[in-house]
Amino acid sequence: MEHKELFIYNSFTRSKEKFTPIDPDRIGMYVCGPTVYSDVHLGNCRTFISFDIIYRYLMHLGYKVRYVRNITDVGHLENDVDTGGEDKVAKKARLEQLEPMEIVQRYTNGFHDVLKQFNTLNPSIEPTATGHIIEQIEMVQQILDNGFAYEKNGSVYFDTQKLNATSDIYGTLSGKVQDDLLTETRDDLKNQSEKNHPSDFAIWVKAEPKHIMKWESPWSLGFPGWHLECSAMSTKYLGKTFDIHGGGMDLQFPHHENEIAQNMGACNCAPVNYWMHANMLLMNGRKMSKSPDPITGLSNSISPEELFEGTSPHMSKPYSPMIVRFFMLQTHYHSTLDLSDKALLAAEKGYHRLMDANRVLTDLAYGGNDQSSEEDVEINKLLDQAYEDMSNDFNCPQALSRLFMVATKINAIKNGQLDFNLVSRTTWERMQTTFHNFIFEIFGLKDDSHGGGNGANGEVLDGLMKLLIDIRQDVRAKKDFETSDKIRDTLKELNVILKDGKDGTDWSIG
Ligand code: AMP
Ligand code: ZN
Repeated sequence: MEHKELFIYNSFTRSKEKFTPIDPDRIGMYVCGPTVYSDVHLGNCRTFISFDIIYRYLMHLGYKVRYVRNITDVGHLENDVDTGGEDKVAKKARLEQLEPMEIVQRYTNGFHDVLKQFNTLNPSIEPTATGHIIEQIEMVQQILDNGFAYEKNGSVYFDTQKLNATSDIYGTLSGKVQDDLLTETRDDLKNQSEKNHPSDFAIWVKAEPKHIMKWESPWSLGFPGWHLECSAMSTKYLGKTFDIHGGGMDLQFPHHENEIAQNMGACNCAPVNYWMHANMLLMNGRKMSKSPDPITGLSNSISPEELFEGTSPHMSKPYSPMIVRFFMLQTHYHSTLDLSDKALLAAEKGYHRLMDANRVLTDLAYGGNDQSSEEDVEINKLLDQAYEDMSNDFNCPQALSRLFMVATKINAIKNGQLDFNLVSRTTWERMQTTFHNFIFEIFGLKDDSHGGGNGANGEVLDGLMKLLIDIRQDVRAKKDFETSDKIRDTLKELNVILKDGKDGTDWSIG
């Protein structure tokens, strides 16, 4: 099958490149998932929503995509040191007096629940680090056998100097030169002395006696280094070299840089053809993060629930998951995005405008005389451009702006300001399918503008409301105002507002 030409910004080469998958019809995509030791914040969600849209668009182009997104349930140590610190999952288990597996399960469930509310698709495979200890041990062995690692007191370190002697790949992704690599490899001093070179990093860590998550290996009772799981699991499910690797921009260094090093050490090949990095969600101009600010001591994060329920002190009101998702679509994944009440209020308006236009498209019967005109040409051009925008490094905001231009025309037709005869039936039908495809399949939005919620429930609610509105219309025609008022007042008590207009009665929540 012929696939539409697609261009992707490759962080590795720092340039936009024509996308050519290894297999013409299949794509392998790996995205670093969460470390499940606490609830996800909205910043984490932005990265996963960005890759959800990328996944959806690749499938929309007709590719079969194997999307692997891991769960980090061991090996990610406090303060991002690579040895000596306490495992984040184990620490939480200790503090809450729970089993580590209980912590992992709780926050994995929470992560899934949140992503479901945002209507993100499940990945094809969601492997866990603890489920792939054997593969990780095998990879450590391969790296050792190839001479790119050394053992010290039961821990195994990657030998960055050996890699540098054979290739100049280390540092390319993050654009760091050797001196930066040295100073930015944050490490505890204790294990620093075991390393041949400060930029070396642990791929297997000998566990202290108090450490609870540990496994037998040829070197020690220990656990894998954090970066290793992604190398081992991407190789297992996608092959030694695969198409796309994604994650948040903050993972470029050291995580992704070290992944590349490990794959080079294990198989002497670069693992990824296109590295993609989603930019950070900011709040008050700073990266959203759970870690407390060094000066104020306050964390700079907001949870999805706080937004949905309107309990955040930063927000004037609740915002539904679809409004938040829409808000994220309005900025390109490669740019930072600042969260604010004002921006969400604007997104709410935009979301409703888009959904309203789509509803007109679905509900309004074609009312033209099937002639072509300049309007046709213009509308078709906008629809083509929306696809070109998506194929130009997934430029959602640009595609969205084209749809809004078409939405203006749809509203003008509805209000009689634009003659329906200027739009052919073919164009009208193309508008219907393109809007549907973009809004629901590519952007992954749902129409909750009636507060009707999701899928089947939303349809039931819409159906019930239509029935009530019809009954109210009937009783008013019979001058039974008592019943019609009862319907309106009872709905009002339920926070459902009826709005009578010249095109009939519409309803909304709140
Ligand atoms: P973590 O659980 O900390 O490993 O993070 C999970 C994912 O969320 C990673 O891909 C991070 O890059 C991403 N992430 C963390 N903070 C933010 C943020 N403020 N904005 C966007 N993505 C983020
Ligand atoms: Zn990873």
